[in-house]
Amino acid sequence: MMIILMGAPGVGKGTQAKVLCAKLKLRHISTGESLRQAIKENTSLGSQVRQYVESGRLVPDQLITRMVIERLSRNDLKSGCILDGFPRNTQQARDLDKFLSAKITSAYMVIYLDASEKTLIQRLSGRRLCKKCQAVFHLVNMPPKKDMRCDFCGAELYQRPDDKEETIKNRLRIYQEQTAPVIDYYAKQNRLLHIDANRELKPVLKECLKLLKGRGNHIRLPKSDLSPARAGSGSRKICLKFCPLPPNGGVPPTAAKGIFFLKERDDFYKVRL
Ligand code: AMP
Repeated sequence: MMIILMGAPGVGKGTQAKVLCAKLKLRHISTGESLRQAIKENTSLGSQVRQYVESGRLVPDQLITRMVIERLSRNDLKSGCILDGFPRNTQQARDLDKFLSAKITSAYMVIYLDASEKTLIQRLSGRRLCKKCQAVFHLVNMPPKKDMRCDFCGAELYQRPDDKEETIKNRLRIYQEQTAPVIDYYAKQNRLLHIDANRELKPVLKECLKLLKGRGNHIRLPKSDLSPARAGSGSRKICLKFCPLPPNGGVPPTAAKGIFFLKERDDFYKVRL
């Protein structure tokens, strides 16, 4: 299962993604973090994207989509992942769908964290990161225990260049123009879980988990994610976790109490109907 976290800069995608990944045992794929790492290490990707990232502009689609597809193609994602920061425009969303339908599985849900511009600006301008472990703090909402030092590793905290006031406005404008239409794209596909993210971390996290898990750890996926034989006329509840492929590629044992296994391309899902 893949979960895409959508929302404007500063809405708390990164923080929520980290906790959700720990709780649901999913991998965290953050395009922003990968790009900042590449810049820090001065790789060739890093030098290509530095100017975009530091000024808050979007990195060209070709570069970012290739990076994401490479990451999604590695074989360490069997238990699923959270995609944070991608897609950022409808072209990226379409390319992702194309890749997913051809390569692994199309099963995914989208969490849309929604907050007011006032909340976003307050969060972005006070955000500070650890230079070493990338832990996130906030001058008001989550201040470090010791002045400007990371609580976890003691390294110095810094402000992201793109969190400076003049860049924040640019990022929010780009979000409205290019990323907001992706929300509609997913709403039309019936994948969107809308969450009010003006609240503090804990209630938002609680609601994410509640919506994702649904009853009995199952969530509702659109009909298009299910094989035609099982899809019937409506959406179906589906377990969050991939079921490991049975040895020899055989059909997995059917479980009792209405749970059975659904084959989606190369993956099996445990499904409760
Ligand atoms: P984030 O940490 O998600 O706020 O991303 C930081 C910056 O990385 C963005 O302002 C963009 O410059 C770049 N970036 C991250 N993800 C993408 C993407 N999907 N498409 C284009 N640029 C991106």
